[in-house]
Amino acid sequence: MDGRTIHDADVVIVGGGPSGLAAAVALRRAGVERVEVLERETDAGGVPRHCAHTGYGMRDLHRVLTGPRYARHYATRAAKAGVVVRTNTMATGWTAGGDLEVTSPAGLRVVRASAVVLATGARERPRAARWVPGDRGQGVYTTGQLQQAVYLHHQAIGRRAVIVGAEHVSFSAIATLRHAGVHVAGLVTDLPRQQSYAAFHWGARLAFGPVLTGVRVVGVHGKPRVTHIVVERVADGRRRRIPCDTVVFTGDWIPDHELARVRGLDMDRSTLGPIVDTTGLTSVDGVYAAGNLCHPVETADVAALTGRHVGTALARQLRARSAQAAKAGVPIEVDGPLSWVSPQLIRSTADLPARGKLILRPHVFAWLPAVRVVQGDRLLWQGRLSRFIPTRPTLLPTTWLARVDPHGPAVRIEGV
Ligand SMILES: Cc1cc2nc3c(=O)[nH]c(=O)nc-3n(C[C@H](O)[C@H](O)[C@H](O)COP(=O)(O)OP(=O)(O)OC[C@H]3O[C@@H](n4cnc5c(N)ncnc54)[C@H](O)[C@@H]3O)c2cc1C
Repeated sequence: MDGRTIHDADVVIVGGGPSGLAAAVALRRAGVERVEVLERETDAGGVPRHCAHTGYGMRDLHRVLTGPRYARHYATRAAKAGVVVRTNTMATGWTAGGDLEVTSPAGLRVVRASAVVLATGARERPRAARWVPGDRGQGVYTTGQLQQAVYLHHQAIGRRAVIVGAEHVSFSAIATLRHAGVHVAGLVTDLPRQQSYAAFHWGARLAFGPVLTGVRVVGVHGKPRVTHIVVERVADGRRRRIPCDTVVFTGDWIPDHELARVRGLDMDRSTLGPIVDTTGLTSVDGVYAAGNLCHPVETADVAALTGRHVGTALARQLRARSAQAAKAGVPIEVDGPLSWVSPQLIRSTADLPARGKLILRPHVFAWLPAVRVVQGDRLLWQGRLSRFIPTRPTLLPTTWLARVDPHGPAVRIEGV
């Protein structure tokens, strides 16, 4: 070694958001002794710490909390369960032997554990990554940056904002802008319809008019501060200006996948997160992944439930001293109107995924879409699902899992 302090844990979890904390609590409750969570921010809790609005906890806690209360709930639960949460501590890489390199105010350390769970979440692509041309004026945010500016740093934002995107998080941006005293001039989406709940849409519509659908942003202009954006109709290329001094780019998520990539995990080309099996195990022995790193993105309760599922499965494997080997398994693939599936791999037909369901992400709108699950020329399941909405999950039951041939070809999920 190179003189850095080494310390041991049974399981180390990178990321103290809902999925990481829920995984840690599940591990402790299942009797795993030394469970550590590494969190680079000053407090654990993840993204909900910055979301002052309500709407957290329905599926996991069966009540509705504000983001900060929800984050505190999980941080307190972890502390009570005996999880060691190290804040201001960032995992920066891996040693040649596969241990985690960590940096904190105490200096550089190496953490050696029987298993690592990556729960590093996802973030929105900023303007530069979306290749929107124009000037580099002030007043351009993602929702995450906006929420931190408003709720954590109490900064002044602007007077008139346009929100780019029309999914759940875009409507969340409305609440934050209102809180900051900013007038919302409108929401724009290149998709033919908004993608969130009808109630959110109607609330927004009553407040400032319809969402502009089928238009994309082709320019952000103004210096030193934004003065307007230019949008273009997808159908015929017609352009118009919308005056504003603030632009919030929402959605369009990318997993925080640096550690996963550096470790050489097999990555999914569509989610851009690591490929995991139904227990959360990646392509490398002893390395697991959970939460929005794997399914960018779901709500916090879903992230917490996948974290809990991964923690429970990992504890079972540690107890049986049979730390699951990252053997090949049967891939799950999607096509047609589906962009991705999570998890993407079946290693044991006895291991159900979190909530017993696969998460599918469609890229079209459809009501009661027909879906088939096939392996080679064998039909495993067919039926209709409730609906497809881009950016929203569609859940596929896994009653067919036991019929998968573990030596057979990939399982394909075909949407019609
Ligand atoms: C603006 C906005 C509004 C939302 N509104 C709602 C809502 O109303 N209801 C709802 O249920 N969900 C909402 N969500 C979604 C919800 O916040 C996420 O689903 C949830 O936070 C995902 O949990 P996670 O643990 O997977 O990731 P995160 O919450 O992103 O947590 C990941 C954690 O990992 C840490 N981390 C990353 N890399 C490292 C590293 N190398 N070392 C140490 N720490 C690291 C990060 O600091 C972070 O704390 C919203 C999200 C956003 C952005």
